[in-house]
This record gives sequence, C-alpha cells and structure tokens, in this order.
Amino acid sequence: LDVVATVEPRIADAIRQELTDQRESLKLIASENYASPAVLAAMGNWLSDKYAEGTVGRRFYAGCRNVDTVESIAAEHARELFGAPHAYVQPHSGIDANLVAFWAILAHRVEAPALAKAQAKHVNDLSEADWEQLRQELGNQRALGMSLDAGGHLTHGFRPNISGKMFEQRSYGVDPATGLVDYAALRELAREFRPLVIVAGYSAYPRLINFATMRDIADEVGATLMVDMAHFAGLVAGKVLTGDYDPVPHAQIVTTTTHKSLRGPRGGLVLCQEELASEVDRGCPMVLGGPLSHVMAAKAVALAEARQPGFQQYARQIVDNSRALADGLQRRGATIVTGGTDNHLVLLDVGGYGVTGRQAENALLDSGVVTNRNSIPKDPNGAWYTSGIRLGTPALTSRGLGVAEMDEVADLIHTVLSQTSPAATADGGASKAKHRLDDAVASKVAARAAEL
Ligand code: PLP
Repeated sequence: LDVVATVEPRIADAIRQELTDQRESLKLIASENYASPAVLAAMGNWLSDKYAEGTVGRRFYAGCRNVDTVESIAAEHARELFGAPHAYVQPHSGIDANLVAFWAILAHRVEAPALAKAQAKHVNDLSEADWEQLRQELGNQRALGMSLDAGGHLTHGFRPNISGKMFEQRSYGVDPATGLVDYAALRELAREFRPLVIVAGYSAYPRLINFATMRDIADEVGATLMVDMAHFAGLVAGKVLTGDYDPVPHAQIVTTTTHKSLRGPRGGLVLCQEELASEVDRGCPMVLGGPLSHVMAAKAVALAEARQPGFQQYARQIVDNSRALADGLQRRGATIVTGGTDNHLVLLDVGGYGVTGRQAENALLDSGVVTNRNSIPKDPNGAWYTSGIRLGTPALTSRGLGVAEMDEVADLIHTVLSQTSPAATADGGASKAKHRLDDAVASKVAARAAEL
C-alpha cells in the first residue's frame, strides 16, 4: 500500500480504511467472506497485464503459456473438488456465469440461424431488432426460476436482468404456510409452462433444495436443469450438501460465484456435463471479454484451499453457526422465516420489532453489525423497504467465531432491534426509511462488535 500511496494516497487510505471497517464490524452479509492472503496475492500481480481471449491451447493472442497453465489448474481443481465432468473458470462474476450457462443451453437445445450469427458478436452489441429476431427464432423460450420474494435471484430470468430479455419467465414460490419450496406445485407449474430451463438456486432461501426431485421434474417436462449454487458452493465443496442436496450430479449445468461461501476471489465459474462443454467454452467471446488471468490464478488457489480437509470443518461450522444464530434470535422472541435454517443464512422477519428491513439494516449498521435488508415471502413492504434482514455466517466463521459467539451476536442484534423505532415523518406519521436508535445503545453494541 505504500507503493499505491506514492501515486494516489486517497486510494491507499480507502483500502486501509476498508480493512479497518471489515475488522471492526461484524460482517453478516451472507454473500461476503474473507479471502485468504494466498488468494489475494495470487490476484495482485502481472497476470493482470496479459490478454488471453479463447480457451486453453486455443487463444487469439500469442504468449499465453502461463495463462494456459493457470486456467488448466483452476479447471482441474474445480472438476475434482465438485466431481464435475467439465469446468469453465473464466466468468468474471456470477451474473456472467449465468449468462454463459443460458447461452450454452440455448445453443445446445435450439436450432436457430440467428443464434449462430449472434455468436460472432458481443452480447452488448446486439440491437433490439437482433434480440427480437433471436427471440422469434428461439421460439420465445421459457425459463422457470424461484421468485424474488422467495429468495430467487435477478439473473434467473427477471426483467431488470438480461436473462429476462432472453426468456419468457415464470416463477415458483414457496408454500405460504411453511415458507418451503412446494415441489408438487412446482411440478404442476412446470407441466403447464413447459420451460426450456428450470433454474434452481437462491440468494435468500434458508433451507435445502432437493436437486434429485428438481431433476425429476425437469426431465418430465423436457427442461434442462440449471443450478446456481453461488450462495452455497462452499457447503457443496465442504461436503455438507451431499446426495440429493448436491446439485452437481443432478443438474446438467451448475453455475457459481467464487467469492461467497467458497471464499475465493470475486468471480464465477460453470460446471457442466460433457454434452454442454463445447458451448460453455464459447463463453469468451460470446458473452465475456478477455479472461481475468490473475483472478483465474486466485480461483485456482481458493479451489486448492477448498480441497484441504480443513475446509470441510469450516463448511460444517458455517451451518452450526447459522443454526446457533437462528436459535439465539428465536429464544429472544424474534421471528425467523421457515422457523430456522439448514444452510449458511438466516432470514429474520423484523416486522415483530415494528420496523422495516431498511430501518433495521441502518440501525444495525450504526451499531457495527453489517447486514442487508431482504424481502421475505409475500413481503408487505415490497422490495425496497422490505420486512426482512438476511444474516449469513460464512465471514464470521472464517474469523474463527463459533456457536457460543453466535449466541452473543444474536443478543447484539436483538438488543439493537428491540430499541429501534421508526422516525416520525414531517406530518407526524411513521417513516419507512428513517429510524431512531439511542446513540448510547449503538456505541455500546459497536464496541462489543469490534472486540468480537
Ligand atoms: N447468483 C446468485 C444466486 C447470487 O446470489 C448472486 C449475487 O448475489 C449472483 C448470482 C451474481 O453474482 P455476481 O455479483 O458475482 O455477479
């Protein structure tokens, strides 16, 4: 950082401050973690300077032998860690991994001359007319994914994301009584909708998904099963999710981010059956620009770390901690969506505290507890204010916190929320955005958060 400071000291300061902030607060954002020094070092180096469009051994640039080595090792670790026939480690993020997967499924399953033409272009260069022609030729293909308020992700066919332009989308929700995926209702919906793709995976669903059942439903309606395991890849790598709950043997294609529970660099990857491998490998240039060779190096290091036995212990601890956090909150009277958790995240319904998700998020942030507001199923406050807070344990588990500390974390969260209330609006009503919390309470909790 001293070198950075000689050029732009404000950037060096911001980086230092980020480290301090991350050290002094409790990081409970379910999609964040702490990458190891080895992962960070593999990312900050001269590989960043190299162009390497194409795939291993088939590059559009000269001088790629070291990138070939890096990419081959990363793919080998990914295949062996997850038991997948094929791995593609170039996607720059989870959204890119999903885009690569959708294109691969379309290219594999649908006869369309416009698609072949489009494969020569970058997706951003396609005009509205190109899209329209493509949509028609592709026969207005359909995707079925989990609804956003049930915990699904924007990249699973929703309008604000490009996947929502590629597919006509319908979503499956959860049983309103239990908050759990209703597989019988999903099967009925799939029979009626006949999607090309069924997407399983989530950002905020606190329970397990039975991927064997999902595949059975997909097979019955002739759909390809795509699983986005971005959130729980670390639990798959750590062998906490096995059998019917491990997506890799069941789905034709699996995508993930590498920076969440997997604890690697910010990035994505795709695993697939052999039949989709050549289409997946066309990710660059179809969807992606030049691969980030330095990030592929960091992915290789993170995947190698995840193959060590200690990672399985880490993954088990994530879930033990998550359960302890949910129990601790429930014992103090909080409402947990679905009544608990089986994975790395807990969805707290903050309605009982008389605040919105946004107010809860800000009150906790004032108190050194970093979380994010999240919709709950059928959220009365909508997607902006929300009624939920999503809590995840991968980061605190990386810092060595265990079950006993989770009970204390639950206590800190409950202390803050039970003393937070909506601020008054100018006309004397209750704000949905602004909150009131005594500074003394916030400082006391923040001091304890920094110690933990
Ligand atoms: N898929 C899921 C399930 C996610 O939760 C996320 C991010 O939160 C993504 C994809 C997108 O990942 P990225 O931010 O790396 O594009």
